[in-house]
Amino acid sequence: MVSHTYIHIPFCSHKCDFCDFAAFAGVDHLTDEYEQVVLKEIDDRLSALEQKRGDLSQESMKSVFFGGGTPGLVEPRILGSMLEKLNSYIKPAADCEITIETTPHAITRDKLEQWKSFGINRISVGVESFLDEELKAMGRDHYRQEAFQGLELACQSGVDVVGLDLMYGLPTQSVESFAKSLECAVDFTSRFKNLRHVSAYGLHLADNSPLYSRFPKGAAAYPADNIYVQMFELLVETLERAGFEHYEVSNFARPGSQSRHNMAYWKNAEYLAFGVSAHRYLDGVRTSNWRSLKRYMRDWLGDETVDVIDESTRLRESIMLGLRLRRGIDLKVFEQEHGFDLSKRFRSEIEKFADAGLLEQCDGRLYLTKKGVPVSNSVISAFF
Ligand code: SF4
Repeated sequence: MVSHTYIHIPFCSHKCDFCDFAAFAGVDHLTDEYEQVVLKEIDDRLSALEQKRGDLSQESMKSVFFGGGTPGLVEPRILGSMLEKLNSYIKPAADCEITIETTPHAITRDKLEQWKSFGINRISVGVESFLDEELKAMGRDHYRQEAFQGLELACQSGVDVVGLDLMYGLPTQSVESFAKSLECAVDFTSRFKNLRHVSAYGLHLADNSPLYSRFPKGAAAYPADNIYVQMFELLVETLERAGFEHYEVSNFARPGSQSRHNMAYWKNAEYLAFGVSAHRYLDGVRTSNWRSLKRYMRDWLGDETVDVIDESTRLRESIMLGLRLRRGIDLKVFEQEHGFDLSKRFRSEIEKFADAGLLEQCDGRLYLTKKGVPVSNSVISAFF
């Protein structure tokens, strides 16, 4: 049963210096052509899936995620036509979660109305920081004022869930300046009941990131490791105090408003994916479309990568994804899926981290403690 779909919309008003996604600026003239290619891809892939699995109309779609790029930038009717095409194969569940990612300055009242009319019920707004100097340092093309305006419009539209995305570990950022962004975020959450989700990711740069031309690797402008940890602790403390549940290392939600789509990834469920560079997971195989826009538009069924997920990879992913969730790994479910008791197989590692206060095992679950979350990567890597 496949119940989740990702659709990549690669257009952006500007390429941010830190961005390593398949996101392109200055190619807006290709949006209509891109729409047609994605519609063909949906047709081709889903007809092939129907041949393999039989009639898909008995299945129901539980989440659709328009990610990018900036899906909020394109004509809303383009998203509407993609949804319509998808629905012609697999009907949306009555409570299907449909998310759109957008920059704040791409949001308008008219677009909000159209998005809602297609059933979009979650808007994820890439604010990243509420401080102009940090936005400039990281190479964004929006200002603090636009972040306020865009978020306000999204919240006032009455859409079910507005999500706010922040980043930390940015050049020129300090614990104090991050605290200011968090204050603004919390202020929004208290003013608008539908601001129900916050994601906050630490900055990770690819080796060839253009940001290094302005702030070279190791430059003093980047917060030191201990400051990075302090930022993370402040993030958790601030949002939990504001009534948000910390449900995944980088994600916080008001009760009942976790991202169903992202939970599907973290629980290793199958998902469809369409568009340039999109990654899917079906029948135990992960494949990805071409990352080059030109190549994808010529060859929308071509795979740039194919990874057969064997038992050892599945095991690694279950541990990695499970420990990133604050509820951790359900040891019984894990044993049913992998055929052995994780807590016995890794007894010495678990004891070592438990003694250090980084891991805890309780009520049949293994999870990172508050102290363990900021160093999650090193704890997780010890299992492999
Ligand atoms: S807006 Fe987002 S997707 Fe587009 S370039 Fe910036 S970070 Fe990348």
